[in-house]
Amino acid sequence: TGGAPLLELSDIHTYYGQIHALKGLNMTVNPGEIVALIGGNGAGKTTTLRTISGMMKPKTGTVTYQGQNVTGVPAYTIMQRGMSHVPEGRRIFPQLSVRENLEVGAYTVRDRKVIAERIEEGFNLFPRLRERENQLGGTMSGGEQQMLAIARALMVAPKLLLLDEPSMGLSPLFVEAIFDIVERLNKERGTTILLVEQNASMALGIAHRAYVLQTGEIKLSGAAADIAADESVRKAYLGDE
Ligand code: ATP
Repeated sequence: TGGAPLLELSDIHTYYGQIHALKGLNMTVNPGEIVALIGGNGAGKTTTLRTISGMMKPKTGTVTYQGQNVTGVPAYTIMQRGMSHVPEGRRIFPQLSVRENLEVGAYTVRDRKVIAERIEEGFNLFPRLRERENQLGGTMSGGEQQMLAIARALMVAPKLLLLDEPSMGLSPLFVEAIFDIVERLNKERGTTILLVEQNASMALGIAHRAYVLQTGEIKLSGAAADIAADESVRKAYLGDE
């Protein structure tokens, strides 16, 4: 099919002080793909997403988004260009209602009518949120908060959605529901998705391609089905003996 990648990381090195968290990362995400980034604790998955969305600046290397060099561009500006990041641990506003959380998610959107339409779309995607639109975010269950965090990220109608461990701490039913929505967003809206997950089997089940990260380096990449069949991956991340 050709065409330029939507996102490209080229030789990214990111540090926390002296800690060298990302060691020469190269990755691409093509338009329309779901790409899974898997790896164990401390591998650098969250750091990768933070580096992409502008929350952290790499020491060296380049992040290219929609053909433009966005390395060091502030998160707010990157978001205005259609990239949305659902951080680890959700971080919804506990003291604001569901509806208010969604309104805050639209802070880069000026048009009130567009905001109202997108809230409606969010409620259609997650009917549970509509039932709870006046409930305070902090009083919702973990799964409901994850739904709210995703709906909030969708308020900017992202072309690229970064999801950091959406299944963390959720019961199996909620995990199913969240992965289902991620697949639907990709299929129905064409949203490109970069999915970070510890739940490697679920992530590989919906992804087109995957990268395996280990101590800040890509160890393996390829079609998700091939990664899922790889013996070293099965042993390390899929619980095979
Ligand atoms: P997990 O699945 O456990 O969240 P991860 O793959 O997302 O792990 P990161 O959170 O990106 O990994 O961490 C990568 C490395 O950077 C780890 O060695 C971690 O200890 C370190 N690190 C992460 N955040 C900080 C921080 N705020 N200050 C210092 N070191 C950090």
